[in-house]
Amino acid sequence: MSEKRPVVIIGGGISGLAAANQIAAAGHRVIILEARSRLGGRVHPFRLSDPKYTVDIGASWIHGVIGNPLVEIAKKNELPFEIFAPDSVIIKHDGELLDAELTRKIGENNVRGFFDYAVAAAHAGPDTPSPDVPLSKAFLDLASPVFSGLSPTNVPYSVAVAKVYDGWVGASLDQTSLRWWGFERSTEGPDAMFVGGYGTLLNWLEKNARSHGVEIILNEEVVGVHAVCGPDEEVSHIIITAKNASGNTNTYEASHAIVTLPLGVLKEKTHIFTPPLPPRRLASISRLGFGANNKIIIAYDQRWWEPADTYLFAPDRDSSEGMTLPRGGTPGRGICVVDETSSKGIPALVLFIGADDGDALEKFSDEELKPWAEGVVKQYLGAGKKNADIPPPTDVVITRWRSDPYARGAYCYIPTTTPGEEECTPLDFAELARPVHEKIFFAGEHTHMDWYASVHGAWASGMREGDRIAALLGGVPDGVEMSHSKL
Ligand SMILES: Cc1cc2nc3c(=O)[nH]c(=O)nc-3n(C[C@H](O)[C@H](O)[C@H](O)COP(=O)(O)OP(=O)(O)OC[C@H]3O[C@@H](n4cnc5c(N)ncnc54)[C@H](O)[C@@H]3O)c2cc1C
Repeated sequence: MSEKRPVVIIGGGISGLAAANQIAAAGHRVIILEARSRLGGRVHPFRLSDPKYTVDIGASWIHGVIGNPLVEIAKKNELPFEIFAPDSVIIKHDGELLDAELTRKIGENNVRGFFDYAVAAAHAGPDTPSPDVPLSKAFLDLASPVFSGLSPTNVPYSVAVAKVYDGWVGASLDQTSLRWWGFERSTEGPDAMFVGGYGTLLNWLEKNARSHGVEIILNEEVVGVHAVCGPDEEVSHIIITAKNASGNTNTYEASHAIVTLPLGVLKEKTHIFTPPLPPRRLASISRLGFGANNKIIIAYDQRWWEPADTYLFAPDRDSSEGMTLPRGGTPGRGICVVDETSSKGIPALVLFIGADDGDALEKFSDEELKPWAEGVVKQYLGAGKKNADIPPPTDVVITRWRSDPYARGAYCYIPTTTPGEEECTPLDFAELARPVHEKIFFAGEHTHMDWYASVHGAWASGMREGDRIAALLGGVPDGVEMSHSKL
């Protein structure tokens, strides 16, 4: 049943692996070309110096367990996961805990403001916001629930939490479009985590791929995707060129290709396609935003701080200086910190620095960031402790997803559009998902209109394109489940 030429999948992240499994299970030959020395892409389980501990330095959560295909897979294949219902605390700059009732109120205000109020302002108001109106306009306007029932002295704490949501988006709330905020039909319900982290899913996908005979070639960076025409002027096949770690060029002939390059990579690599991608595709690639989110992981031999699931390190209300970077962080913004001890039994803290601050972080050296991050943790969690009671960290791991040549950022968002320019809309995701010449297919989180910026979006897009090609090549055997995702 298998064709002479294989299907070549460019990129071995979650979307590429999902597609590969689907096509290989239908009996066709599949090759994955992956530029890195590992699979997973923006899912990256990272082993700490104590080898029994692995932390996720890319994605961590299964966002919204209701309607989430990852939950179905987990249940069906006995991949253990746990609901993540965090017990959150806000800590002031002097290490004092904010009152629990006030913390609960601020949390609730922000969730309502971000997920209900801003969405309603975008879709249910008398006027549709114009494309240049940012998300911050509704989320942080004075009528927003963010401020409701708070005394003026407590408002800055709520703003500090609100500004942390830019890490969720990947972009400053001032750059994110309000008009399309919440347009997507998301998964719902609480978040969850795979027990053992996203490595649990990744290992399962890789094992499946290998058992279906998928050929996985690592350290193979694709540098050319060429559509070859037959005598009838129709595209007959695809020639893919790739450079390996020794700098040698290899050529692959494919019946079909699936391109899963992240949007950030596509933005700088459109020249690898010959003939060039259609103008509308190029415009969508350029218009959609690709945001930043970074993590600083600080691990210790054992936990020395008071336990909670997540902390918000709040800035000093009386200071106009930012506290999210060694210098020049966004004023008023806090730092969201996750305690890995609670969810995974790992004595480590994860500091999230997203959006503009996430980009700015990448310009600092490790020599500056490590002592700074250690100092911040001591300032907020070590109040009342003697220095001698706080051990030095065993690991400080700093991500730089924007500088990473095979990611060039964290995930997609819909930016505001300057008046007079063509507007970025969710249709751009649909455009990115369309095949070219019926031979080159596209998957990845940036091709999913409803679930962009997520692992489940990446998964669903891979299943979608895998099914498309399996159906084209024929021979979907009984027992292979087709995805029902259109986009
Ligand atoms: C810090 C961070 C936190 C996140 N947190 C969450 C979260 O908690 N929950 C969630 O659902 N999502 C989260 N995400 C988003 C999620 O990780 C991504 O949406 C998803 O993993 C994307 O999968 P993908 O297959 O589309 O792309 P990728 O995982 O980026 O896969 C693309 C692959 O292509 C490879 N590649 C690139 N260039 C080339 C080339 N020239 N030749 C060959 N191969 C190439 C890359 O190395 C990569 O392996 C997070 C992302 C980041 C960065």
